[in-house]
This record gives sequence, structure tokens and C-alpha cells, in this order.
Amino acid sequence: MLKTVHAGALRLENVGQTVTLAGWVNKRRDMGGVIFIDLRDRDGKTQVVVDSGRNPTAFSIAEQIRTEYVIQVTGVVSPRPQGQQNPNLPTGDIEVLADQVEILATAKTPPFLIDREEAVDESLRLKYRYLDLRRERLQRNLIVRHKAIKFIRDFLDERGFLEIETPILFKSTPEGARDYLVPSRVHPGKFYALPQSPQQLKQLLMVAGIERYFQIARCFRDEDLRADRQPEFTQLDMEISFVERDDILDLIEALIVGMIQAVSLVPLASTQFPRLSYREATERYGTDRPDIRFGLELQEITDLVANSAFRVFAENAAANKPTKAICIPGCGDYSRKQLTDLEEFARANGAKALAWLAIHPENGEIRGPIAKFFTVDQLIALTERLQANPGDLILISSDEKAIVHNVLSSLRMEMARRLGYAQKKELAFCWVVDFPLFEEGEEEGHLAPSHHMFTAPKREHIPLLDSDPHAVLSEQYDLVCNGFEVAGGSIRIHERELQNKIMQMIGFSVETAKEQFGHMLEAFEYGAPPHGGIAPGIDRIVALMCGEPNIREVMAFPKTAQATDLMADAPSEVVQRQLDDLHIAVKS
Ligand code: ASP
Repeated sequence: MLKTVHAGALRLENVGQTVTLAGWVNKRRDMGGVIFIDLRDRDGKTQVVVDSGRNPTAFSIAEQIRTEYVIQVTGVVSPRPQGQQNPNLPTGDIEVLADQVEILATAKTPPFLIDREEAVDESLRLKYRYLDLRRERLQRNLIVRHKAIKFIRDFLDERGFLEIETPILFKSTPEGARDYLVPSRVHPGKFYALPQSPQQLKQLLMVAGIERYFQIARCFRDEDLRADRQPEFTQLDMEISFVERDDILDLIEALIVGMIQAVSLVPLASTQFPRLSYREATERYGTDRPDIRFGLELQEITDLVANSAFRVFAENAAANKPTKAICIPGCGDYSRKQLTDLEEFARANGAKALAWLAIHPENGEIRGPIAKFFTVDQLIALTERLQANPGDLILISSDEKAIVHNVLSSLRMEMARRLGYAQKKELAFCWVVDFPLFEEGEEEGHLAPSHHMFTAPKREHIPLLDSDPHAVLSEQYDLVCNGFEVAGGSIRIHERELQNKIMQMIGFSVETAKEQFGHMLEAFEYGAPPHGGIAPGIDRIVALMCGEPNIREVMAFPKTAQATDLMADAPSEVVQRQLDDLHIAVKS
């Protein structure tokens, strides 16, 4: 080894030892006759002192050294002089007096400072990702990620799970996104699809008798990368035989709690994860991905406004369209301008209009364009239902249920950001269960699976499949943390007949089903055990554990929102011969 210790290791008890360090020059200060070098490696930093009086050769080499040079230093550990200790650095009590300095590699001036936490344009960071990754924050994130994956492997190994790799070159999998396709050279005109997830393969592993499977699986989805998605991402993919829903929920809960307690930089809000039905989640929070770190819950007020003189509310109530509200503490003094901005925000999220009532902080008087349409008793009933106090602001939406939920859940998150509730540094998990089996498909009247087509309907709802498919609830479950869906899974259909029926209901003809999933349907004829699984998203969970706002910060080499790699310049053109080999002609 070119070093005898790492740069984060030395303490007062090492004083007097001769050590060799190797790493990067984090900083270099020339004090005239004495040069101070902060030597950095992955483990930390050590102050090196090169004194011309102690060793002139070492000193003259140190004079040539610049930031980010790679150097090797041999010297003696010594206590720092009184008053020069650095309590913020684990090695801050000592320094190494250099006897020998060697330059292992020179370095150009980096395009941004490595040693300082400062805002750098993200495209520059991605282009020079290897320099970005030298920074403390990203190294810390990669360490948390490594520890999380190690925790998962140990936890599942102790419980009899087998880690099994499944192919990357496979067939289209139905997770609802577009596939990345790989043309076959040996089979002209044919394509492999990169797995959107190993869904079919893990179910086939259950038919194969594996019983407890997991994989740290790379998944590929060719989607428009809105917000914070990546074309390739990592899931903890799992499948278990002979389980019921709660067995999986309990297992994952224990895994997540244990992992967070062992490796997370952000603490858990609670070790008990509340279980909400889809209906309860959407009624209370307006979404099936509720951020439960704070309240600001949606309240139904349809009954209270049905008889008011405000026509829109009354007519909507008569047409079975709900009116719901959220109460925002302390915002009752919002100005006209602030309220107009909120109305704009609501419109951008699908509202036709936003009604509001503001309660005066001192005299409790209620103002707002719609206030005059309500009797005093109606207003009192409203404030009681919403537990609104003087100084609060009530935001009201009245429309189709889906619109009301969308508008109010967006406003709930926006107000939580403004009030700082959404910045609270804790991880609040909850389960959402009892999803509808189907949602409205892209074409009107068509059914699409809410999760994927292998998800089982609740046993007791099977008779409703023909009569009232939208009323059928499924065995799907999602794990949600701070408003992000961090895992999704389900108990699967294991009977071929039922699987056939669901495929037909969502519009697969017998032929297409056979063409695409024939192997699965056939496998189910050879004794498929009851089984279920789940797939927590590693990138998102690690980002949450690191307190990072986006998953790119916890991936070594992420892509941009346009799915490009700025460092390697991928995707890129290929030479004609490669295209010819693949029987591909590119349209210009
Ligand atoms: N394959 C599913 C997904 O990627 C998860 C599962 O059902 O296990 O969302």
C-alpha cells in the first residue's frame, strides 16, 4: 500500500508515530518557510506541515503542489500547538510533520471547488461527476447507500431469502411505461426489452419453488422524466410464497425500521407505520401518497354548505359533487395579492376557482368574497368542523371529487412548504392498502390495472368483477414516506383462470395474452403457490435517509431529465457497421 493510515484516522494517541498518508490536496497555504497542506482521502482530512527547516527537499516539492494534486507524505504525528486545534475536525488535535513529500499526480484546476459546499450548476456537476463525487456530501450519500444495501442483504439472508439475478435482456414487462428495446443481431427484426422490473421472473421463481427471493434489481423505464425520475433505477425486488398481505407489510416494516435506525441520517417519525385504506388516504389528504408529517387535513363540508346562499356550493351538493376545505393556521392575514397568488396556484392544479374565508386574528371577524352568502350559524358550524381559530385561513374547493382532491392536496403541500411543515427533518411512513383493482383506461370505458395485471382482487370481491368492476378492491399495498411512494406491491393472482379473466377485462385478446405472457400462463398450470411481493425503491429511500431532495444525489452516475449522460455523452451515434449488424436503418 502507498499509505499506512487513512487521512481520517489519526488522534492524539498516535503522536510520535511515523506514518505515510496518500490522497488529494484539499487546500494548501504557504506561510513563508512553512507550507500547510490539508490532505484529503475518503476517510477524512489531515493537516500536514512542511517546514523548510525540517526538510528542504520536501519543502521544495510542497512548493509545486496545487489543489487536487495527488500526493504521498511520510512524517511524524505531532500534537498541534496550543490554540491551533480544530474541534470541527476529528483529526483536529494533531498534524503530521512531513519528512518526505511526493507528487503522485498533478491536477488541472477543477471547474468547481471540491472542498466547499456551494451551489454549482448541476450540468457542470454531472459533466465532471468524478470530481463532484469527490465532495464530502456525495461520498457521505454513497456510504449511506452502501450501508443500506448491506443492511438489506443481511436482514433478508437471516430470514432465509435467496438473492437471485434475473436477466437484463428479456421480454417486455407490463409496468405501464415504455420499454427500452435492444435489437437482436442474430434474429433480424427482433428485440429484447430491458426489464421495467423483474415482475414476471420473480413470479416464475415462486412457481419454481424458491419461496423467498430478493434482488437489488436495476429497472429500466423509458418515460418522460418529469420531476425526479431516472430511466434506470434500483429496486429491492422481492417475492414470497405462502404469504398473506400483512406478512409482507410486517416484514417490510421491520426491515425499514431496522435499516433507518442503523444507517439513516434523518430519524424516523414513528416505528409504527399507520395503515390507511386508499379511500381514507384520498379523503383525508386528497392523494394516495400522503405526507403525514403534518395535519392540514381535508374536511368534507358539503353538508354544511348545501343549503347556503352560495349557488355554486348548493348546486354542486345537489349534483353529488363534494365541497371540501383545509384550514391553514396563522394565514388569516394574507393580503389580497397573496390570496390572488393562491387562486392562481389552485387554477394551475385544476381548479375552476378557489374560495376562501379568513378569520381576523383579534376580533374573529370572517372576511372573504363568499362570506356574505353564509348565515352566522353556518359560519360557526364551518369553523367548528374545521377547528379553525382566529388568525386562520380556510381554503375551499367544490367540484368533481378528483378535482377537489387534486386542488386541495396541492394546496396542502404548498402551504406546508410555506409554513415549514414540509421541511421537518423526519421520515413519516404509512401504508396505503385496499386500492381499487382497476382505474379508468386511456380510452373511455376501458379498464386499466391500478397496479399491474398480476395483482389479485380481494377474494370476497371476485363476484363483483362482472357486475361492478370499479367497486373491486385489490390486494395492492403501497408504502409512502413524506409524500413519496417508496414501495409498491401486491398479493398476486396464482390461478390461470382468474389471470386470463383479468387480462381479458383490461383488453388483452386471448392471442395477445398468449403471445406476451404465454410462458407465465403456462407456468401457472404446473402448480403455482399463492404468492406476493413488493419492490421498495432504493434510490428514493436512500435520498430520504440522506435528507436529499432528489434521487440524483444518491446515484453515482445519474442522467439528466432529458435522459442523457453529460459525462460520457450518452446516448450517442454509432458507426454504420454497428447499425448494419443490427439490421437497423435510422430515419433522418
Ligand atoms: N413490480 C412492481 C413495481 O415495480 C412491484 C411489485 O409488484 O412487486 O412497481
